[in-house]
Amino acid sequence: MISTDRATTIILELSQAVAETETVPLHSALHRVLAESVVSKLDFPHWDNSAMDGYAVRWSDLQAGIDCLQVVSEIPAGVAPTKSIESGQAARIFTGAMLPIGTDTIVIQENTQRAGDQIQIMKPAAQGEFVRRQGDFAKTGEVLLTKGTRLLPASIAVLAAAQYPQVQVYRQPRVAILSTGNELVQPSDTLAPGQIVDSNQHALTALIQQWGGETVLLENAPDNPQELAAMMQRAIDLADIVISTGGVSVGDYDYVDRVLAELGGEIHIAAVAVKPGKPLTMATFQRGQRVLYFGLPGNPVSALVSCWRFIYLGFQQAAGVANPQLPWMEAVTGVDLRSDGKRESYLWGKVEIKNNRQEFMPVAGGHSSGNLINLAQANALALMPVGQNAAAHSVIRVLRID
Ligand code: AMP
Ligand code: MG
Repeated sequence: MISTDRATTIILELSQAVAETETVPLHSALHRVLAESVVSKLDFPHWDNSAMDGYAVRWSDLQAGIDCLQVVSEIPAGVAPTKSIESGQAARIFTGAMLPIGTDTIVIQENTQRAGDQIQIMKPAAQGEFVRRQGDFAKTGEVLLTKGTRLLPASIAVLAAAQYPQVQVYRQPRVAILSTGNELVQPSDTLAPGQIVDSNQHALTALIQQWGGETVLLENAPDNPQELAAMMQRAIDLADIVISTGGVSVGDYDYVDRVLAELGGEIHIAAVAVKPGKPLTMATFQRGQRVLYFGLPGNPVSALVSCWRFIYLGFQQAAGVANPQLPWMEAVTGVDLRSDGKRESYLWGKVEIKNNRQEFMPVAGGHSSGNLINLAQANALALMPVGQNAAAHSVIRVLRID
């Protein structure tokens, strides 16, 4: 049994970005990961422009005490000024419009009084006020977004503005999800005594979709070494990452670890000192690029916690994300929390802002790893280090799961 830190290190060492990239148009680039850094072909702003509606003036006029100017042109946004502005003159200007030659300062319209083509300046402006200067936000040749960035709306706005109508991204990792167990049936099936619905397949499919991966669905595998081996081999052939649930404990019907070895997998993790989710298996297969195999316990809570705490990092790295991080945050616990003596434990609950701080409260109901019902009420997992209880109102670390 290895520590959670060691398991994290192993997973990060063995996972690598998928080799293939593809070009996608911006409207389908959300959540995709940049496979190349994006360099600006332009200065931002592209030219000096006005941040406000008002008048473009020569600051030297204001400095010389001139407070009455003649308005000689009008420049709306989208129009290039043609006239340069001489001393004693001003140009009517609107937000986003280019500054005419000769001007360097904007007097906002609220600080002027207009009479015909004359303006009276009621309140002088500081030099350069309300001017967005060319290149202030970014210069030509500057890196705007680095390789390994997961694209969100703001980064997509940058790509559009920088005239990248399409971008080079990593192929989404293909994740095969395999449920194992003779007791499993589908949600639409009639339950016979002893059977349960395979909820893991649905939970993990949703999770991989949420993470931005592509899922490969497989039929459930029975607890029979031959059929299980055939299904596991199919999964390994089809995917970059395989996640199977069930069959990794010490029971008589738990064959996954044995089959992994028989199929030629190199086993790197056999158990982790974590609760829930101790019987976490990780193996790799060499098939062109390395395939990662994660064997998770079948208990629905254990399976999801293992994904949130461990597989997330391997998945993100496979997706091409540079330096992926777990979504940790600090919170104050609302109640006393007890840790396990030997394993790092995770308690599921809700963090919410209370009295101006994030407070964690365990969800009501049993905290057994088979209880998936109250897990649906949780948005965070409280980390309880080995043998360290947390008193009510003390600061703890929690992992966001929403
Ligand atoms: P196992 O890890 O195979 O020993 O399974 C542990 C527990 O999780 C058992 O109670 C199983 O019935 C349950 N379980 C296994 N696979 C699934 C699944 N795909 N969906 C829901 N529960 C499962
Ligand atoms: Mg089983």
